[in-house]
Amino acid sequence: MSVLKVFKKNMMLSVVVLLYAALFVFRTDMAILSLKNSSYYIIEMLQIIPVVFILTSLIEAWVPKKVIMNNLGEKSGIKGPIISLFLGSVSAGPIYAAFPICKMLLKKGASIANIVVILSAWAVIKIPMLANEAKFLGPKFMAVRWILTTVSIFIMAYVISTIVKKEDIQDAAANNKDEDAVSIKRQYCTGCGICVKLLPNLFQLKDGRAAVKRQPLDSKEADVAKVVWEKCPTKAITMN
Ligand code: SF4
Repeated sequence: MSVLKVFKKNMMLSVVVLLYAALFVFRTDMAILSLKNSSYYIIEMLQIIPVVFILTSLIEAWVPKKVIMNNLGEKSGIKGPIISLFLGSVSAGPIYAAFPICKMLLKKGASIANIVVILSAWAVIKIPMLANEAKFLGPKFMAVRWILTTVSIFIMAYVISTIVKKEDIQDAAANNKDEDAVSIKRQYCTGCGICVKLLPNLFQLKDGRAAVKRQPLDSKEADVAKVVWEKCPTKAITMN
């Protein structure tokens, strides 16, 4: 893999390393201070992330997809946001711990709106946070903020779910995967259906445009996908 590809694949990390290198050259004192702060957060993450991954794997293995879809899916009705609000409120740990769990819930059928509710509740109305708020700022302040924040969370969930579609998230995830990951720039797709006709296992038409059904399972399938990629008239298909 070329240096450029490694850089592209780990864009954020590469930029941080470059910034650190520049800081060490021009402001060593600031670089050392920054390194100390970063170490603190890295140690914190190393303590939390393994637990989060174990929890995520257990939910993924033990909770059936149907249960997630019924309770947090598009058709969960009013039950979905209420359960999501509860899950986010009783959670523990920093907000970054919520992302792998939410990604797994999304994969198992949770709706975008309910994921927004979980993340937002996790970030701003967790029960321990409310208890501290009531202690320092008074119960009235806490109650009014909770009501207004909860209403805002539901509005935000609705708005985000109308703007962001599941395919957008799947496309972004595919871009972060291995070398043979396939994704579609839906804005360039004309919906001609060539890719679907040639590789129905990997591609499907959704709302008049192509979407990735699943990633190639082996190098043989990846080779066929490369042929389809070449045939796409608008070059909407991308392969890392
Ligand atoms: Fe879209 Fe390209 Fe597939 Fe045609 S071949 S449906 S333009 S992605």
